Amino acid sequence: MENPAGLLPEIHKLHTKLETVREKLDSGPRKIAAQQRILEKKQEELDGCKEKLLELRKSADGKSLQLKTNEAKILDLRAKLNAASSNKEYDIISSQIEADQMANSVLEDEILDALDKVDQGKQDISAAETAIAGQKSQIEETQREVDASRQGLESEAAELESALAEKEAGLPSAVIDQYRRLVSAHGAGALASVENDACTACYAILAPQERVALNVGKILFCRSCGRIMYLEDA
Ligand SMILES: [Zn+2]
Repeated sequence: MENPAGLLPEIHKLHTKLETVREKLDSGPRKIAAQQRILEKKQEELDGCKEKLLELRKSADGKSLQLKTNEAKILDLRAKLNAASSNKEYDIISSQIEADQMANSVLEDEILDALDKVDQGKQDISAAETAIAGQKSQIEETQREVDASRQGLESEAAELESALAEKEAGLPSAVIDQYRRLVSAHGAGALASVENDACTACYAILAPQERVALNVGKILFCRSCGRIMYLEDA
């Protein structure tokens, strides 16, 4: 029967490979989730642009309406001016007309400015829509990549798991519980090789009797970090 300690290097390798494969399996959905969050942000930006455009249109419409009202008022005042019965009345109406004309010229500038802003708002919306379409196609592409690699990775993981189970079956029952606890806490980091008489996980130096115990094939846990130690050339 194989020395159980001799199984540890292979068990460590299998755990490390399995971790890499599982990481690849997890990274696809994580990447898609991150791209989805970016998409949601872009959609919020588009909603914001649409709201802003509504406000800009309302403001432009309000000013146009004000301009029309003022123009009607000026026409009305002109009629009154023609019917003025005194110089004083004539002067009052004239200065009212002048003030309203001044106000209208300011309004006309403001309307032009508001219409420019409406145009800019439309451009912002179309840019946001383009960005959303781009992000959606990026998500679809990532999804295709993830789907294409999933099956291969899953069968690779299954093969590694069964190879691992086979090796683990050779571990002594005295250490198996502690082994399982360490693996569930640290994954592949549950095991550490010994190099130059030191645990490679925490660099604690082995006592001479520990080195001897490892040499004769005992399974040891690091006194410092608790990991299962093994000799690479066991
Ligand atoms: Zn250690």
